[in-house]
Amino acid sequence: MSDSVRTKYIFVTGGVVSALGKGIAASSMAFLMQRRGLRVQCIKLDPYLNVDPGTMNPFQHGEVFVLDDGSETDLDLGHYERFLDQSLTAGNNVTTGQIYHTIISRERKGDYLGATVQVIPHVTEEIKNRIKALTRLDGTTDLIVAEIGGTVGDIESLPFLEAIRQIGLEEGPANVVFVHVTLVPYIPTAGEFKTKPTQHSVKALREIGIQPNVLLCRCSTAISESLRQKIGLFCSVPTRSVVAAPDVTTIYEVPLNFHNQHLDDIIANQFGWDIPSPELSDWEGMVDKIKNPRKRLKIGICGKYVNLKDAYKSIIEAFVHGGVHSHAEVALVWVSSEDIKKGGAERFIHDLDGLLIPGGFGERGVEGKIEAIRYVRENNIPFLGICLGMQCAVIEYARNVCGLKDAHSFEFYRDMKHAVIHLMADQEGVSDLGGTMRLGAYPAVLKEGTKSLEAYGEDEITERHRHRYEVNNAYREMLEEHGLVFSGVSPDDRLVEMVEVPGHPWFVAVQFHPELKSRPTRPHPLFREFVRAAVDYSDRKKNPASSNVGEEEDMTTSA
Ligand code: GLN
Repeated sequence: MSDSVRTKYIFVTGGVVSALGKGIAASSMAFLMQRRGLRVQCIKLDPYLNVDPGTMNPFQHGEVFVLDDGSETDLDLGHYERFLDQSLTAGNNVTTGQIYHTIISRERKGDYLGATVQVIPHVTEEIKNRIKALTRLDGTTDLIVAEIGGTVGDIESLPFLEAIRQIGLEEGPANVVFVHVTLVPYIPTAGEFKTKPTQHSVKALREIGIQPNVLLCRCSTAISESLRQKIGLFCSVPTRSVVAAPDVTTIYEVPLNFHNQHLDDIIANQFGWDIPSPELSDWEGMVDKIKNPRKRLKIGICGKYVNLKDAYKSIIEAFVHGGVHSHAEVALVWVSSEDIKKGGAERFIHDLDGLLIPGGFGERGVEGKIEAIRYVRENNIPFLGICLGMQCAVIEYARNVCGLKDAHSFEFYRDMKHAVIHLMADQEGVSDLGGTMRLGAYPAVLKEGTKSLEAYGEDEITERHRHRYEVNNAYREMLEEHGLVFSGVSPDDRLVEMVEVPGHPWFVAVQFHPELKSRPTRPHPLFREFVRAAVDYSDRKKNPASSNVGEEEDMTTSA
């Protein structure tokens, strides 16, 4: 579109219950419009008072998604980045905490001298400014898709709803589409879908002054035309704009479903846009591979939050992306590190095709993780360690290969003799816990002849970080002498970013979070190669004669 095009807005609200997949709905619409040639920005407006989710427990909030610029954001930004194949910045996630922080600092400086500072107009103006700031982010933005967190009816989200109502009024219907994501539950005892929750939710929205233009009806299976008609009639929405959003096998199917129901045309028509149809064949091919895998792998994830899948959202997605590349489905097996500590690693890991230890904080479960790592290292099972996962791998190596029996991390035991993982120098004296870790994108250089370099295919990379502790350089020489390879280090060689164990089919561990940069059409190299190694491992298990683990094993087999 030309630079003179005025920025338009899609506002996405949710009704009835949370967890309907507003983020995926917003990403899917943004994706379809991007594929129709538009420059699109997504923004998530979170009504909580935290400045960012960085200090929240994953049990409360799910994963913290870290951006290149170091901002700690809502996990929906992960969906936006993955669907749009775009790297976002701090301005793409706004919280009530940030809004009030700005307004109260301004008030203290005297910027509002004489005025009573109020939710309307001061808070709503600040919200509107934050949304509109995105129009200037990368030159011109044709479309902003703004998702309001929470559910209509929440006290916290009222200022956001008021702000988008005002934008709707100021910009007019040719420039603003209101999309409401709602639930149409199926009641098995009645054998019927029920529309009443949607009617109530739309009523609540209209009381605030917002008439939705599109309803996305979350339902277990597709709903009939007559039901859509009925919903439309009660909610004053044309039937064709009542779009069914049934449960799907993979989230990447959602935009295809929307497109089949002409949702992108409905949006384009309201905006008066005459734009080409989207090219979706690559996306359809990807969805087809996800739905029809040729192989099935079992990869274990050994972490603390095994009962909360949202805590590992990006890892789960990165495995989907890696799986597409090998045309394999990765079934994730959640292994509790505490169970391993009690019952031993063999019992939980022996039949897996690979093991991943994700990032984490706190000592609980660490000994189980270390035991799990020993098992996969000694039994040639593919392994990927991320952040705390790498730190545990180094501790394991120091203990069981270098013989430092009490090796540990300074994070957990301050008086350990061998703190092979210690506090980073620039973290000393840091007392505030919000936003003070080593956060965001940092470069690393990779070593010749390593699996890491082979995976990336380039010797300079940047990856996203979120940690306070690092490999203690005082132990590097010893670890290296015992065979551990530091396959990636910071350009000044002060920080270890990647380690690997040579001779093992795939034992790579990294201080950063590769999962945050994996995209469906561009799987992250480490996930791609880890899954490939797991496929090889699984094939070898089934057909041991085809073994080609490495030179040593080749020699044994041929001898
Ligand atoms: N707790 C560890 C640290 O701060 C690891 C952090 C993580 O896994 N993201 O260094």
